[in-house]
Amino acid sequence: MAKKTKLIIFVALFLALTLTPLVIMLVNANWALPIRDISVALAFFGMTIAGMQFLPISRIPWLSEVVELDKMYKIHHVVSAIAVLLVALHPIVLLLTDTVYFKGSLIISGWLGLAGLVLIAITSIFRKKLKISYTTWLLIHDLLTLVIMVFGLMHMFQRNYYMRDTAMTIAWVILIVIWGGLALYIRLIRPLILARHPYAVSKVVEEAKDTYSVYLKADGFKRAAFKAGQVAWISKGPSPFVISRNPFSYSGSTEWEDIRFSIKKAGDFTNTIPDLKPGDRMFVDGPYGTFDLKNPRMQKGLVLMGGGIGIAPVMSIVNTIADTGDKRPVYVFYGDLCEDTVLFANEFEELKSRMNLTVVQVLERPLDAEKCKYKGYITKDLLLSTLPENYKDLYYFMCGPMPMMNAMNKHLTAMGVDPAQIATEKYEMA
Ligand SMILES: Cc1cc2nc3c(=O)[nH]c(=O)nc-3n(C[C@H](O)[C@H](O)[C@H](O)COP(=O)(O)OP(=O)(O)OC[C@H]3O[C@@H](n4cnc5c(N)ncnc54)[C@H](O)[C@@H]3O)c2cc1C
Repeated sequence: MAKKTKLIIFVALFLALTLTPLVIMLVNANWALPIRDISVALAFFGMTIAGMQFLPISRIPWLSEVVELDKMYKIHHVVSAIAVLLVALHPIVLLLTDTVYFKGSLIISGWLGLAGLVLIAITSIFRKKLKISYTTWLLIHDLLTLVIMVFGLMHMFQRNYYMRDTAMTIAWVILIVIWGGLALYIRLIRPLILARHPYAVSKVVEEAKDTYSVYLKADGFKRAAFKAGQVAWISKGPSPFVISRNPFSYSGSTEWEDIRFSIKKAGDFTNTIPDLKPGDRMFVDGPYGTFDLKNPRMQKGLVLMGGGIGIAPVMSIVNTIADTGDKRPVYVFYGDLCEDTVLFANEFEELKSRMNLTVVQVLERPLDAEKCKYKGYITKDLLLSTLPENYKDLYYFMCGPMPMMNAMNKHLTAMGVDPAQIATEKYEMA
């Protein structure tokens, strides 16, 4: 099925599911108490879109082939914030107008559900400021999701005013089954699938200070095919039933038997990478991502821009191009701090002999300034002086720290590159 068709089906289904309870309610409302009806409409819509948030984070392959993951997480963040706002408006509207609705114990479940929503928003927005580790936050996020669903739905069904309608009951039962199914997929079915496909560490290679490449071999099965530029969520240890898996770009060729991830130390999980030993068990949830070298827009050539560890997906792309005898021109612009942090220097040299590759390395703070050809940052002038005249026909891919990506986007816009010719891989989606 074409990607566009899948996207249309997804959007149509999403809208149908989120709007059905609201539409049924609006059709049935007698508007005798308009404030109450408006308030309930806000809560119904807020709850349906909150519940549907299981979808963008589920990483269902069908969906992740269509929408880029960082866009999916962005949608999740924005829509969740709207859901919190809508549900919070529900009691606020009632409180401002009449307190009669706030009598009785039924209200407690409503407040608990709302507290769950507000807490999920606070802990998500201020996670770093509150110094909550990513894994702890995921655990909190899961628990609060349960609180919201249990108490929110309890409140709605206990109130039993609009819910008495058969169509309304059916609509909510369908939604609850879908949400429950997605939660089961995320927390049970997906790990069960992974449990049957374990990987073993073949080797760990130190690429530079604090950055290691991990080579993994499928243990007793044919490994999943992936496309250069895709990512996977990986975990280590005997079981795939873990709270958190971490995302990494494939950095090796699609043609190699082993898969490779190149990982920079950044915290709890990545700090343990150097301790991995051959034979250690790992689980790989992937591939995900929409980058595809067969994309017609990419056929005239590629410009790959990597900053720091953002060079990892670039390595997968160039290795795959070399291994498949692909002759299209490829220009790599690689920015890093200094000679000590530079990655894959030898690999690039070897690749140049097998493909049509130009590599421009730019060092922010070179240790040996005289030997360094390009100092500072990747600039628009450097891009223009390196790229051929038909640079607008080339396809651009960038991955690196956000300030670098913003600067590159600015250069490309100034150079008149069509945004449809640009792909970005953000390492900050959580
Ligand atoms: C799509 C994508 C691809 C990536 N590819 C690479 C790569 O090829 N090489 C590389 O070195 N790094 C890559 N990263 C970054 C890498 O995922 C984080 O550095 C790593 O997960 C940090 O985990 P930690 O436990 O060591 O550090 P922590 O201190 O626990 O986390 C540091 C930060 O990393 C982010 N993070 C942690 N866990 C997750 C998670 N499960 N999901 C999303 N974000 C998380 C959070 O923002 C967190 O604040 C990628 C990130 C994304 C989103």
